[in-house]
Amino acid sequence: MAAKKGLGQNFLADANILRKIVGAADLTSDDVVLEIGAGVGALTTALAENVKRVITVETDRSLAPLLTEVLAGRNNVELVFGDILKLNPALILGTVPAPKVVANLPYYITTPIIFHLLESAISWRMLVFLVQKEVADRMVSPPGNKVYGALSVMIQSYCQVELVGTVPPTVFIPRPKVQSAIVRLTPKSRDFSPAIDHCFSLLVRAVFSSRRKNLYNSLRSIFSQLGGETKVMAALRGLGLDPLQRGETLSPTEFYALAAYLQEEL
Ligand code: SAM
Repeated sequence: MAAKKGLGQNFLADANILRKIVGAADLTSDDVVLEIGAGVGALTTALAENVKRVITVETDRSLAPLLTEVLAGRNNVELVFGDILKLNPALILGTVPAPKVVANLPYYITTPIIFHLLESAISWRMLVFLVQKEVADRMVSPPGNKVYGALSVMIQSYCQVELVGTVPPTVFIPRPKVQSAIVRLTPKSRDFSPAIDHCFSLLVRAVFSSRRKNLYNSLRSIFSQLGGETKVMAALRGLGLDPLQRGETLSPTEFYALAAYLQEEL
């Protein structure tokens, strides 16, 4: 069977790495786990041995015969064929309380999948992903670092993010061209406000689309949507932020506080 590059099919073929991923998720026999991308079932099998139930979503229906064979007799595994981005995780999982996600993600849609899961109505207990090392570095980066960007701010405002370890190309078939890494995301408890979230994502996108500009200049372009220049200047000063500092120096907490302040004022 030829792996499909276009679907990000790099299958895990190393028992140690499988153990490391499973270990990173602190699995117990009470856990219900959602996996994205069953592939040929290596991680699915390792998960099934450690938890109560695994629901795995795979977009490539041509893997069905092989997967059915590999997972035969595993009564705690449910295979769902479809594109995860077109499926509602809440409908797949039903009323399961605090499920976990464990996945070796297809690298071409890593961030859309992560946000699709985080923005769903589910209270995840923990999410463990194998991603490109370069993406993992952006996810964990603090402000002031060259790779600190919109992904760092958005992910860190939703979750506590930890880099568990790096993974070499040699553990995959076929081998990817890049290094990979395991990351663990533990969602923060936060009040859900669609209005603040909207404002927050506008701010973050505006700042990082012109990261060399100061806060005042990078926010100017969206002032009309945020209630006018005077209000934004007052908001910056009210939060102790200097309008002349670069927006990219703000921490996720400062971005969120600014969004909440502006939202309150509107
Ligand atoms: N879990 C397996 C492993 O660790 O060996 C496979 C991981 S492979 C990196 C990613 C898998 O995600 C592939 O099997 C691919 O077909 C599947 N995939 C790609 N796009 C997908 C999507 N939109 N929804 C669900 N699965 C997808």
